[in-house]
Amino acid sequence: MSDRKDGSMRLFVDGVLDKKYETNRTSFFKEIGIDYNNVISAHLEHKTGIKNIRNNKKKIIPKTDALVSKEKNIFLSVTSADCIPILFYEPTVKIVGIAHAGWRGIVKKIANKTIEKIIDLGGDPKNIRVAMGPGINKCHFDIGNRISKQFLPYSKLIDKRGDKYFVELKEIINEQLIESGIDKRNIENTRECTFCKSKKYFSYRKEKDPNVGLMISLIGIR
Ligand SMILES: [Zn+2]
Repeated sequence: MSDRKDGSMRLFVDGVLDKKYETNRTSFFKEIGIDYNNVISAHLEHKTGIKNIRNNKKKIIPKTDALVSKEKNIFLSVTSADCIPILFYEPTVKIVGIAHAGWRGIVKKIANKTIEKIIDLGGDPKNIRVAMGPGINKCHFDIGNRISKQFLPYSKLIDKRGDKYFVELKEIINEQLIESGIDKRNIENTRECTFCKSKKYFSYRKEKDPNVGLMISLIGIR
């Protein structure tokens, strides 16, 4: 995963493909030894579109928030700045996956749906390793009463202070992963809050900018 010092990895400015941050991507991929041409990017829409990548010529996959692949030397990527990047690896069948999880995706169970896709490709949830990257924590993620209703099954992970509800999104994802049969010993949670650590990470809620800088997370099998 990149961080603030690598520069913004944003592809779309005001919703339109824009090459102005392409040099940040090129130099970051070079630094981590990945060929630019082997990176597949999801054009996120905060829903639960998932795409299996096979011999793909397209580098940007529209309307998708998660990618899975069995192919070698293909690097799946999502961008984020507060939302949580979730990385999946099935080491037995050799499948990788990545998901972008904001609150909407979490309510719609994007992590569980990505695991189902990995199972469809022959993976076993008992083998899947999952890592959650930095994202916004309960200290800085509050929602109003109307949205809080969508989190009712996870009410024990919500604190009410005044008329605000503070939600621990990564703990909800953790519960969802366990529901899908992931062994809790195979889940890694960085626990870093992008808002608290806004010197290191971009944070949408801190910067209140619709075109805020974005970090990129990648996973692939060499
Ligand atoms: Zn925080």
